[in-house]
Amino acid sequence: MTQEETFKQLTAHAKEYGFIFPSSEIYDGLSAVYDYGQMGVELKNNIKKYWWDAMVRLNENIVGIDSAIFMHPKVWQASGHVGAFNDPLIDNKDSKKRYRADVLIEDHIARLEEKIQKEVEKGRRKFGDAFDERQFLSTNPNVLRNRQKADEIRARMTEALNANDLEALRNIIIDCGIVCPVSGSRNWTEVRQFNLMFSTQLGNISGQDGIIYLRPETAQGIFVNFLNVCKTGRMKIPFGIAQTGKAFRNEIVARQFIFRMREFEQMEMQFFVRPGDELEWFSKWKEARLQWHKALGLGDGKYRFHDHEKLAHYANAATDIEFEFPFGFKELEGIHSRTDFDLGNHQKFSGRKIQYFDPETNESYTPYVVETSIGLDRMFLAVLSAAYCEEKLENGETRTVLRIPPVLSPVKAAVLPLVKKDGLPEVAREIMDTLKYDFNCQYDDKDSIGKRYRRQDAIGTPYCITIDHDTLADRCVTVRDRDTMAQERVPVSAIRGIIEEKTGYRPVLEKLYDINK
Ligand code: ATP
Repeated sequence: MTQEETFKQLTAHAKEYGFIFPSSEIYDGLSAVYDYGQMGVELKNNIKKYWWDAMVRLNENIVGIDSAIFMHPKVWQASGHVGAFNDPLIDNKDSKKRYRADVLIEDHIARLEEKIQKEVEKGRRKFGDAFDERQFLSTNPNVLRNRQKADEIRARMTEALNANDLEALRNIIIDCGIVCPVSGSRNWTEVRQFNLMFSTQLGNISGQDGIIYLRPETAQGIFVNFLNVCKTGRMKIPFGIAQTGKAFRNEIVARQFIFRMREFEQMEMQFFVRPGDELEWFSKWKEARLQWHKALGLGDGKYRFHDHEKLAHYANAATDIEFEFPFGFKELEGIHSRTDFDLGNHQKFSGRKIQYFDPETNESYTPYVVETSIGLDRMFLAVLSAAYCEEKLENGETRTVLRIPPVLSPVKAAVLPLVKKDGLPEVAREIMDTLKYDFNCQYDDKDSIGKRYRRQDAIGTPYCITIDHDTLADRCVTVRDRDTMAQERVPVSAIRGIIEEKTGYRPVLEKLYDINK
């Protein structure tokens, strides 16, 4: 199965089992907006809790806040979002469709890369075991020609983007003969900048002055509360402020399911440090965040750092943690050393003194900031795509199983009376009643036990607890493990401990890197 087909299946599975629905689906959906269903909300909440506990509970010097989505419009001038949070867009005059100019060019480069890959496959078929891919890549004329073209186009695009040269971007599209995927024509408009912030109007103020924005990131809510938290929490540098919440971006190229959405959720933490110490903290946070991901056990090889060579003007170091999604390695989280840019600018725009008095050095200064910023929905997609598995069983059947890390699984255990009579439902209800205070459990008495196991596999439930006739006599149940499908007979009194051990947060949190040591 190709990666694209697997991804399609994953999307269909997410809908069929109540993880993710297209928004307003009865009206044919709203592009790049999604709703989380009964399973999705549980998984999402569990990811959020894992992040919150790792940040706020484990670190005495990190506290959380929950700031409003609407903020004073000046916030977005100070942060630079009004002036520079733009995408370069181009319209096709025939189809009236709008595209991001850099994405059209990237897609063109991807097609050249595909041609190279096809050439390699051809070579492999032709030469069989004697095929030497490295040599082929460095000598085959078709490969070399396409490689050179791809490299040249990428270099031109980087230069144009860095120089903010919109005409140069358009020229690349024209020179490469890029056509509109809908109309097939080359009838392009000029390239224009398009601000990604959604705006709306405050009720009691008309005109320009009443425009407010839906926040495009949660970070600014932290910066504008720096003084409040520092004072009321008696915080001492180094310290951090964390928050999770919705962010909105009017993304033009919205695709790849919940990877790029117009309304999404972020989990961000700003760590305030002494000027000069930021690069040391930056590398500590890189390590800590990678460790947070790896502790889930989705596969260490699925992560890599992508250090930014071209830095934003306010940053002195930046890296992405990339994850291997079904469509390749892509950014999952960003870690940025943002200097004193944000606090400094808020000081300028608000006229308030935003400084920290350091009792150790007897100095006041604007703290430097190291930020970690991860998309909750992207993290959800990472977990779901790594967990999705179609498995061939020994008896020739296949099962679809979500190998979600048990700590994140929406349902921790399913309670299944073998039949709906003979006193079995009563015992099953009794077990359910003792477990429900600690774990999210499902009670299911419909269909054969095999079908019920499959339903639980499909939503990633780590344990199925079956109550049969023997239970009435020996007070033991059968516990089936999702991953191994092994079944074990255990006393009713042991169930709680087994589930706790496998699905609790503690064992995962204990694996984390301690940032303060
Ligand atoms: P990208 O380059 O993919 O657009 P970005 O560099 O603009 O992302 P940041 O502004 O650094 O992203 O945002 C931090 C995190 O928020 C990202 O690593 C990503 O996980 C998440 N994120 C950003 N934009 C979106 C979006 N449109 N949909 C879902 N998650 C997003």
